[in-house]
Amino acid sequence: MVSSSVLGFPRIGAFRELKKNTEAYWAGKISADDLLKVGKDIREKNWKLQKEAGVDIIPSNDFSFYDQVLDLSILFNVIPDRYTKYELSTLDTFFAMARGLQRKATETTKAVDVPALEMVKWFDANYHYVRPTFSNSTEFKLNGQKPVDEYLEAKALGIETRPVLVGPVSYLFLGKSDKDSLDLEPITLLEKLLPLYVEILKKLADAGAKEVQIDEPTLVLDLPENVQKAFQTAYKTISETEGLPKIVLASYFGDVRPNIESIKSLPVSGFHFDFVRTPEQFDEVVEILTPEQTLSVGIVDGRNIWKNNFENSIEFVKKAITKVGNERVRVATSSSLLHTPVDLNNEKKLNEEVKNWFSFATQKVNEVVVISKAINGDDVTAELEANAAAIKSRKESKITNNPEVRKRTASALEDPSMAKRPSDFPTRLVSQKAKYNLPVFPTTTIGSFPQTKEIRINRNKFNKGEITAEEYEKFINAEMELVVKFQEEIGLDVLVHGEPERNDMVQYFGEKLNGFAFTTNGWVQSYGSRYVRPPIIVGDVDRPAAMTVKESVYAQSLTKKPMKGMLTGPVTILRWSFPRDDVTQKVQSYQLSLALRDEVADLEKAGITVIQVDEPAIREGLPLRAGAERSDYLNWAAESFRIATSAVEDSTQIHSHFCYSDLDPNHIKALDADVVSIEFSKKDDPNYIQEFSNYPNHIGLGLFDIHSPRIPSKEEFIARIGEILKVYPADKFWVNPDCGLKTRGWEETRASLTNMVEAAKYYREKY
Ligand code: GLN
Ligand code: ZN
Repeated sequence: MVSSSVLGFPRIGAFRELKKNTEAYWAGKISADDLLKVGKDIREKNWKLQKEAGVDIIPSNDFSFYDQVLDLSILFNVIPDRYTKYELSTLDTFFAMARGLQRKATETTKAVDVPALEMVKWFDANYHYVRPTFSNSTEFKLNGQKPVDEYLEAKALGIETRPVLVGPVSYLFLGKSDKDSLDLEPITLLEKLLPLYVEILKKLADAGAKEVQIDEPTLVLDLPENVQKAFQTAYKTISETEGLPKIVLASYFGDVRPNIESIKSLPVSGFHFDFVRTPEQFDEVVEILTPEQTLSVGIVDGRNIWKNNFENSIEFVKKAITKVGNERVRVATSSSLLHTPVDLNNEKKLNEEVKNWFSFATQKVNEVVVISKAINGDDVTAELEANAAAIKSRKESKITNNPEVRKRTASALEDPSMAKRPSDFPTRLVSQKAKYNLPVFPTTTIGSFPQTKEIRINRNKFNKGEITAEEYEKFINAEMELVVKFQEEIGLDVLVHGEPERNDMVQYFGEKLNGFAFTTNGWVQSYGSRYVRPPIIVGDVDRPAAMTVKESVYAQSLTKKPMKGMLTGPVTILRWSFPRDDVTQKVQSYQLSLALRDEVADLEKAGITVIQVDEPAIREGLPLRAGAERSDYLNWAAESFRIATSAVEDSTQIHSHFCYSDLDPNHIKALDADVVSIEFSKKDDPNYIQEFSNYPNHIGLGLFDIHSPRIPSKEEFIARIGEILKVYPADKFWVNPDCGLKTRGWEETRASLTNMVEAAKYYREKY
C-alpha cells in the first residue's frame, strides 16, 4: 500500500483569521492569550481537515505566527543581543525580530527601539523568511519546544502527525552574519548547532513522534563545497544518535542532482523529491535509495493552482513503485501547500468553467488521497472521470487561446528594435537633465502611500455598488490631492500619486487586462501578516484600454513637479500571478510586455514623462541554479522590460524598482532603466554596496525599512547616506525609501519621509 502525505498546510486560516488577530494583537486590541488561542484553533482545523480527507502523513509544526525560519531562530536562541535587553516576552521578542519595535516608555516598561531583522525571499517563491542572523556571541540553546508542543497538541486531538523542521544545513546557509561578526561564515556553526537538533529530536521521540520531516530545500541550489559536505556531517550525527525518530529528508522547488553526492548514502529513513518541478531527476535520485529507504513522490503541485492531472500522476507513481515497491512509496505534495490559497469552495464568484480547472490547498489534500487510493485499488472511478473531464475542458476552451495576441507576440520577437531605446543612457541623461533640472540627491518615493482604512472601506463600498463610480472617483482624487500636497510640503522632488486606487500592484493590472481570473478569498502568505491574492493567468493576455492614465494625469494636474507614472512590470505581473502551465513563462511575459508598452506610450502622450515600471519580482524569478535556464531567463526577463519601456523619447525618464532580495547589479543593467531604486536599508556588507558603485545609470539605494513602523531620525539618515557615499558616487545618488509605503500608517510615513528629505538637503549643501 502506498501512503499519502502532505508536507505543510497554509496557516493563515480560511478567512485570514491569523492576519486579523495578529494585527489586533499588535494594536493592543487582544491579549497574547487570545492570539495563542487563534493559532491553536487554526492548527486544529487544519489537522482535522487532513485527517478527515484520509491523509496518512499529516504535518505538524508547519504553523507559525510569522515565519517558520524565525521560529527556529527563537527555538535555538539565535537572537541578537539588541532584542534581549528589553525583557520582552518570547512572543514579543519574536515579533520584534520580525518587524522591529518602537515603543515609548510607560510607568512599568522601558522604551524600546529596535529595527527588524532582514527579510528575504524564500527561494523562488513570493514568500519571505526572516533571515537568521548569527554573531560570534550567539549562544545556542533550546528556548522552548514549539515542535514538541504542537506535536502533543495534535496527539491530544487523536491525530498522529509528522513534525516538520527546516534542517540544519539550510537553516545556517540561509542565514547571515551580524554586523559585529562579518567574518563569521554561518555554516561553520554546524557543530554547535547539531546538538540542539539532536536534543529537540530526542524530545519529539519521547513525546511519541515516529518520523520527522526535515526540510533541506538548499539542496536545489548551487552550493559551495563546505556546505555540500555539511549534509554528511549533519545527518550522520543525527542518524547515529540512539533513540531519535526516523528522518525523512525533504527537498523541493528544483533539481537535487548536482548535489546528489551530498545526500547519497545518508543514513536517513527516506527522501522527498519535487517531481512537479523537476520530473527529469527521477532516474538519478531513485538510484541513491538503499533497500529500506522510503521515497516521497512530490506530485501534487504546492506552488500552483491547476488541477492535478490524475492520469499522468498515477502513471508517475507507478513508475516509482516499479523501482522501489509499494510499501516504500508515499504520494505527496511537491512542497508545503503554504504557497496556495486555502479552499476553492470559498470562491463564489468564479466562472464555473474556469473554476473547474483549479485546485487549492484543501482540494490538493484530496488529490494526494485520491491518487493513493487509485493505486491501492480503491474505487475512485468517479473522481478520475471528473478529473479527466476537467483537464479536457481546459485544453479545448476558447478562453485559453487568442490568435491575435499570438500573432503580435510572434512578430514582436522578430523585431529586435522593439527592445531598445533609440539612444544610449549618457545621451538620454543630457535631455533628461535639461527637462527636469533636478537637484543633486534628488528625492522620491517608490509609489504607494498608506492604504488607510478609509481607502479600503470606500473601495469595498464601490465594489459592492454602495457608492457610484463618480463618488469613488471623487474620493480617490481627494486622496491624491492629500498625497501630492504632503509631498510638496516636505519638499520631495519627483512625486507620486500614491496608488490609492490600487488594491494590489498586480491584481490591479490583472483586472484591467484580458486573460486573467480572480479569486475573492484566494489569499496566500507573502510575509508575516501580509497576504496576497494572486490573479490567475488563464489565457492569452492583452490590454483592452488604458489602465492608469486617468489617475496619473489628474495627479500631475495638481503639481508643477514631475509626477511619476506607476506601472507593474511584465515579469512581476507574471511572477505574482499563478501562471499558466500550458504556455511557457517566456511567452506569457512577452504578452504582458506588449500590453505595458501600449500603456507606457499612452502615458507619455498624456504628458507623464517620468514612468516607473516596478520589477520587484525579477530576482525571485531567477532559476535557482546557474546554467542555460538561468541565462535564458535573464535574457527574456530583461527583454520583456525593454519591450515595455523602449518606445519613448530620450527625455522620458524610465525608472524601475526592485526589492526583497540580494540583487546582482549585472542583472539589472540589462534593463537599461534610467533610474532604479532598490531595497537596501538592511544591507550592511560594504562589499555589497561596492558592487553597485559601478552600475552605469542612476540608483537610489533604499534608505529605510518600510516593513517596520520604526522612524529613523534625520541623523540616522545622514549617517547612512554618509556610509554609502564612501563607496558610491554622489552624482548618481537618488534618495528614497526601500519600497512603497502602503502598509505603513501616516504618522510614521510623515516623520520618516520628512527626516529623509532633510538629510538629502544636508548633503545638497555639501556637494
Ligand atoms: N510601486 C509599488 C508601491 O510602491 C511597488 C511595490 C513593491 O515593489 N513591492 O507600492
Ligand atoms: Zn518594493
